[in-house]
Amino acid sequence: MSAIVIDGFSVAASVRARVAESVGALRSRGVEPCLSVILVGEDPASVSYVTGKAKALAEVGMKDRSIHLPASTSEAELLSLVAGLNADPSVHGILVQLPLPRHIDESKVIMAIDPAKDVDGFHPASVGNMVLERPCFLPCTPHGVLVLLREAGIATKGAHAVVVGRSNIVGKPMSILLSRRDCNATVTVCHTGTRDLASFTRQADILVAAIGKPRAITGDMIKPGAAVIDVGVNRVEDPSAKRGYRLVGDVDFEAACEVASFVTPVPRGVGPMTIAMLMENTLLAATRLSAAGE
Ligand code: NAP
Repeated sequence: MSAIVIDGFSVAASVRARVAESVGALRSRGVEPCLSVILVGEDPASVSYVTGKAKALAEVGMKDRSIHLPASTSEAELLSLVAGLNADPSVHGILVQLPLPRHIDESKVIMAIDPAKDVDGFHPASVGNMVLERPCFLPCTPHGVLVLLREAGIATKGAHAVVVGRSNIVGKPMSILLSRRDCNATVTVCHTGTRDLASFTRQADILVAAIGKPRAITGDMIKPGAAVIDVGVNRVEDPSAKRGYRLVGDVDFEAACEVASFVTPVPRGVGPMTIAMLMENTLLAATRLSAAGE
């Protein structure tokens, strides 16, 4: 079998194109959608994610109010910055790039963001609304996975979805979204406490890997004909690469291509979707906040 490789890069480009059109319509009504991304410190992966977000904002025509603070920034300083952005009507979305330096309590900062501007969907109010199937900002990475599944024509209804990983930003919301009535999948969640991981992954019609371990999912762990979504982004040393490393996913891609019916690549799979969904959430925030202010 040779799997269909899902092109997240082009699906993300079409999401951004749709967002750009709506941004144009909002601008013609005098609303300038604006996102503030706050980066604290110099973590190389975070710097690269923030650069990607700035590029996407420019592409869709949104205002970029990104703020880069030194790693020595105190928790109180960061909380006061967030409070200022909450109160600023020209800012529609606030995203604090994680991880934060150790001396700052991440959950305190997330809780400080106004839920109406919580475009990452990490505030407990957003998470609660997601669980209750009420309108909210969906977390960007799992939401991006749902859009990829839909665009590739992969049916979730009645499917057995196995999610490996239960982090608050990927695995947990992914499993909740797949089990909501609009997806209607039967979901199994696996983690480090799971005994015999392969016995579960081999049952998956849809397998989502969000582990953070290069090529942890091998070909023999995949059910023939499954759809395999690889969320992992891992740097592995590669002296032949210009930067000395290359990015690989949590799935052995070549082996998965032999067994599965659909596979997402790394890079150009889930990654670009995360940023595209962030643009969509910021557009939604600007639309709601401007309507509330009219
Ligand atoms: P994380 O917070 O480290 O969570 C990893 C999860 O995987 C945990 O729940 C952990 O279980 C589970 N796990 C680890 N080793 C396992 C094993 N051997 N067997 C079963 N479960 C195992 O990571 P994350 O933030 O969710 O990110 C996961 C991956 O996705 C990373 O590579 C990250 O870079 C990538 N990512 C990509 C995007 C994107 O846009 N493409 C966005 C976010 C993250 P425990 O809970 O028991 O520890």
